[in-house]
Amino acid sequence: MPEKSAGETKAENGSRFSVSRALGAAPELAGENPYVNALAQFDQAISYLKLEGGVVETLRYPKRELSVTFPVQMDTGEIKIFRGYRVHHSIVLGPTKGGTRYSPWVTLDEIRALAMWMTWKCSLMNLPFGGGKGGVLVDPKKVSRRELERLTRRYTTEISVLIGPESDIPGPDMGTDQQVMAWMMDTFSMHQGYSVPAVVTGKPVEIGGSLGRTEATGRGVVYTLEEALRLKGMYPDRTKVAIQGFGQVGAVAASCCRELGMPVVAVSGSQGGVYNDKGLDLDALNLHKEATGSLTDFRDGDFVTNDELLTLNCNVLIAAAVENQIHGRNADKIKASILAEGANGPTTNEADHILEDRGIFTIPDILCNAGGVTVSYLEWVQDLQSFMWPLDQINRHLKDLMVKAFKSVMACREQRKAPYRVAAQMLAIQRVADAIMIRGLYP
Ligand code: NAD
Repeated sequence: MPEKSAGETKAENGSRFSVSRALGAAPELAGENPYVNALAQFDQAISYLKLEGGVVETLRYPKRELSVTFPVQMDTGEIKIFRGYRVHHSIVLGPTKGGTRYSPWVTLDEIRALAMWMTWKCSLMNLPFGGGKGGVLVDPKKVSRRELERLTRRYTTEISVLIGPESDIPGPDMGTDQQVMAWMMDTFSMHQGYSVPAVVTGKPVEIGGSLGRTEATGRGVVYTLEEALRLKGMYPDRTKVAIQGFGQVGAVAASCCRELGMPVVAVSGSQGGVYNDKGLDLDALNLHKEATGSLTDFRDGDFVTNDELLTLNCNVLIAAAVENQIHGRNADKIKASILAEGANGPTTNEADHILEDRGIFTIPDILCNAGGVTVSYLEWVQDLQSFMWPLDQINRHLKDLMVKAFKSVMACREQRKAPYRVAAQMLAIQRVADAIMIRGLYP
């Protein structure tokens, strides 16, 4: 039986309408507000640029925000009310692009921040997209697949006033997967009366998804990491890696690190993780996770909490879980010399300053995890032209674009003497600002 909440009422037809926990007050992630963080980063980046006041104000706020409240019938017959959002931060460079997050803790400010970061990420990668993001307050692990399908189809219908292959193209994010994207694509297509594969990315290959999309973010993280190692003169086989978050991004990043000969000494999920200074046996660990659903109690490693993982003795830390994990209270304890931000916004603004002062090489999120949106762009292009490319071509495009963006950020940092994140955001913001000025003011 689904949990009852304080707002539950008995409806006239006898069925229960329960207000899901979604409508309660969701706690801010780790006590920090990601939108405040995104704005602080923006303010720091624009202090290096000469932008017109109106352009700055335009870019500070989301272009539009949709908040939806909708009913879903649960397997018990009960009706639950869920809340969701879809935010467009900027539409200047093209249709908005951004993932869909399912989590009980989603907040509008979190979605605003993620949409803004998408604008910068697409711009930095020179993709013809603006930034958007969506989310539903739901714990996907606590609903059945049928319930998740009904919820997804209803949410897609609720946001259908915004989405479309030429206006706003959702993709997956935390808590959503290929199947969720397939339901979104199918729902949108049913309303149109014909199939519209280009309305979402991250779909299964059978219905127009791209080869390599599932692995793209983790793979892209390691392409940028390889460049960072090269710059710092570090040898992969002597580089110990710890990874927080062992989902779509973290698990693929782990296997790509292994391909390069880097020992992965620790990984963690939301309940903690495992550490083995000699390197984890990733195949055995994956089997253990499949069998038990957990990373902890793996026989060939010691248990570590998520906090402990961040400060372990290692050379590279890949943050691939959620926002605000590296903050003012632990940034001075990080021992890695390279931080690769696989997650969006894993580092608070306060921590950023500490890491920069300590000389830790940070590969900022809008660069490091841009592989996902880059292959989403390739998927969208393939869908629009109804012509699919082989995997080696996708990975070659991905690597070229990631390495090019990495080099442009390093050149900007060098030239402007700016911190890593600031350099990436400067390039991204300047491109969007230039487009605003060229397009001019309507009417
Ligand atoms: P996922 O749901 O597949 O995996 C998330 C992982 O993080 C899981 O292992 C989970 O157990 C762990 N986790 C959750 N909360 C945690 C916590 N408080 N502490 C430690 N670990 C925790 O999600 P994903 O797709 O791998 O996304 C991870 C991050 O990467 C998110 O920030 C997401 O926005 C970002 N990202 C994902 C993509 C993509 O293509 N999937 C693209 C760009 C950025």
